[in-house]
Amino acid sequence: MSMYSKDISEEKRKSLEFAEDARENEWKYPSFVLKLFHGVLDWKLISPFPTQSPEDKKVGDAFVAQLQSVITQNIDPDEVDRSGIIPEKAYQELAKIGAFAIKVPKEYGGLGLSQINYSRAIHLVASYCASTAVMLSAHQSIGVPQPLKLFGTEEQKKKFLPLFGQGMISAFALTEPEAGSDPRNMCTTATPTEDGKHFLINGDKLWCTNGPIAGILVVMAVTPPKIVNGKECKQITAFIVETKTPGFETVHRCRFMGLSGIQNGFLRFTNVKVPAENIIAGEGEGLKLALMTLNTGRLTLPAASAGAAKWCLNIVRKWAVSRKQWGSAIGEHESIALKLGYISSHTFALDAVSLLTAAMADDKKKDIRLEAAIAKYFSTEVSWKIADETLQIRGGQGYETSSSLKARGMEPWGVERVLRDLRINRIIEGTSEIMHLFIAREALDPHLSRVKPLLSAKTSFGEKMKTFLSAAKYYPIWFIKLCLPSGSGDLGDLPPVLRDHVLYARRTSKRLAKEVFFAMLKYQQKLESKQGILSRLGDIGTDLFAICASCSYAVSLAKEQPGSIELADLFCRDARQRIEGSFGTNKNNHDRKHVAISRELMKGNYSWLETDIVK
Ligand SMILES: Cc1cc2nc3c(=O)[nH]c(=O)nc-3n(C[C@H](O)[C@H](O)[C@H](O)COP(=O)(O)OP(=O)(O)OC[C@H]3O[C@@H](n4cnc5c(N)ncnc54)[C@H](O)[C@@H]3O)c2cc1C
Repeated sequence: MSMYSKDISEEKRKSLEFAEDARENEWKYPSFVLKLFHGVLDWKLISPFPTQSPEDKKVGDAFVAQLQSVITQNIDPDEVDRSGIIPEKAYQELAKIGAFAIKVPKEYGGLGLSQINYSRAIHLVASYCASTAVMLSAHQSIGVPQPLKLFGTEEQKKKFLPLFGQGMISAFALTEPEAGSDPRNMCTTATPTEDGKHFLINGDKLWCTNGPIAGILVVMAVTPPKIVNGKECKQITAFIVETKTPGFETVHRCRFMGLSGIQNGFLRFTNVKVPAENIIAGEGEGLKLALMTLNTGRLTLPAASAGAAKWCLNIVRKWAVSRKQWGSAIGEHESIALKLGYISSHTFALDAVSLLTAAMADDKKKDIRLEAAIAKYFSTEVSWKIADETLQIRGGQGYETSSSLKARGMEPWGVERVLRDLRINRIIEGTSEIMHLFIAREALDPHLSRVKPLLSAKTSFGEKMKTFLSAAKYYPIWFIKLCLPSGSGDLGDLPPVLRDHVLYARRTSKRLAKEVFFAMLKYQQKLESKQGILSRLGDIGTDLFAICASCSYAVSLAKEQPGSIELADLFCRDARQRIEGSFGTNKNNHDRKHVAISRELMKGNYSWLETDIVK
């Protein structure tokens, strides 16, 4: 059954259907954002803002203090950037405090910390040395501990989880030269041996963070196809692979514009023999496992982004006051003041989104796939802009390396390194473009599941009628509800300025739901290819979520930090402007012209514009 337009290419349709088959199709728990896209702002799901219990906070405080002393005593982030090496001593000291088993349950030799405390740890490290933060997070957010915790058998957990408490590092090997965002292109194979007791893995994996130093990997590979409804279906299976197994090699250590200290490898598997009991989650479940691992794994990037943004905030505060030009501190000039306002208010929103989503993950009674994707997308885009503006505020000194600054007696603030280190976050763990598609797909799900049988040629007439009648019963009532005024009884004691923003979010959520619905009616199966429209609808949902998170967070801080209301207020004002812009652009845009020009460009019809350059 295809939900996709006949106009798209056969290959694209297959890739979409492949990803569709691997998505988690049940919504066992409520999702704040899913409701938001359907016109319901369920304030009680995020308010009061979830705070850590005193016991959990105490555990987190102690670990974060230990971690801070280990990293500051053993790692010089600028030296890591120059040498491309995180010192061996740092790995050893991190292992001693259990930093490679932060979320591994205590019964398996780990620290058993909550998601919030894990996020706090990564936030701290990311504010100091991004390479170290990425090394820790590639191992724990997506590497072996996470899928093992989620899907491993008791035997697997007993065998492998204790290794991390002893300092073993792991990695997540999904990407291949031809399989980046599109996993259907995966070529690495895992072929069962005749007795069925082992699999032989053959193929290449690209850009695997920690690959060259890992003791153990989770490797996604293609296993023999299954026949489903008479059709051959490609199967992807996840294997735990010990890197000491013969046939495994790191062919090349990849180097990047930033994150110089990470050990990231182009890996090769030649007849790597893996026991069948090393399969996690069952044969054919590998892509689902990878996608579900990423659903929680993605929460690390918001924490890391907030850490980096706060570091920037600290730098611009000091620099805006101390740097004098044209007779006053540069922060007194309005152009710089506007940037300072953006950085302060958006750093506040980053913290709100990161803490809220981490708490949602700990709660385990909320579906957070949409929240995590939005948090990842929002945080990586906003922190990049914050770092860029920080560099601008620092002027020439922002562009100068920390060692050069130090050599001439200046503050060695490595803003250019932070900017280089942050850039990749918009690409890894789902690019911003893929996050847009993911958000759109999940947000549309309640509609799609309702009307799916109508879209298929294979559905019987009777079933189509049944679906049609049920939709005809549901949608008029749903639509009338969207047109009725919104109440505010459940909002509690909100300061008036924030109440106004939450009420805006509530009204706008209804407007968003209508826009989504109209877009579905207008474009039907072609909606999937209207990426401009979908991205802007996703952006609206993203800012609505960030508005709600910021307001709820500000209320929770208001007694101790009255300034939190002002920061949230400014963030909401900016977000509202962006939202109105996106609605406007969806009505009146140049998407078609852009696409037409892009087609001409790809045909080579503007190559005349590429003259007078060195090629
Ligand atoms: C430093 C670093 C660390 C990494 N660590 C790991 C790791 O530990 N494990 C691992 O498995 N992988 C890792 N990766 C791989 C990373 O996850 C991929 O780079 C990412 O998934 C994107 O794939 P790609 O680079 O091949 O881009 P492509 O998929 O080729 O995409 C290129 C561009 O096209 C866009 N695009 C693609 N498809 C669509 C579409 N359908 N609609 C609209 N736009 C689209 C993308 O958004 C992007 O802008 C790492 C990469 C780097 C650089």
